[in-house]
Amino acid sequence: MILTKDLIPDKPHQSLCGKCDKCIEHCPTNAIVEPFVIQSDLCIAYHTIENRDKTIPNKIEKNLDGWVAGCDICQDVCPWNKSVPFNNNYETTPKEWIKNLNIECLNWDDKTWKENLQGTTLKRIKPWMWKRNIQANLKNKETKI
Ligand code: SF4
Ligand code: SF4
Repeated sequence: MILTKDLIPDKPHQSLCGKCDKCIEHCPTNAIVEPFVIQSDLCIAYHTIENRDKTIPNKIEKNLDGWVAGCDICQDVCPWNKSVPFNNNYETTPKEWIKNLNIECLNWDDKTWKENLQGTTLKRIKPWMWKRNIQANLKNKETKI
């Protein structure tokens, strides 16, 4: 966007974390290497959503623990997120198939994946990546998908 008008910038954002370090403490892969710094190649969310390699690295795979599309642990444990009111808006509510994801999804063809992913940001995860992520979880026999 090109403007001819001078804009007055906001004040820089202040950290609200105080002495909390819950996200660092609870990250299963120690991906938050220091406050506000995530090492992406250690992050489950990166590997399940962005990594286009055919396999997930072993050190990540053994920590998947059921995560197939992203990982929300650092968000779940953050006290600030607990103060956000529950939102049951249809557009931001996970679809039923995602809530009931199971190994039958491995048999879906690309057309079925495309239909189910229609209108969701999870389209970023390609059908072959969903299958890779599910299979990576299944290698850990105690994981329930
Ligand atoms: S998304 Fe998961 S793996 Fe990535 S930094 Fe957060 S807790 Fe760690
Ligand atoms: S869990 Fe939230 S409040 Fe605590 S350190 Fe992480 S981002 Fe800050």
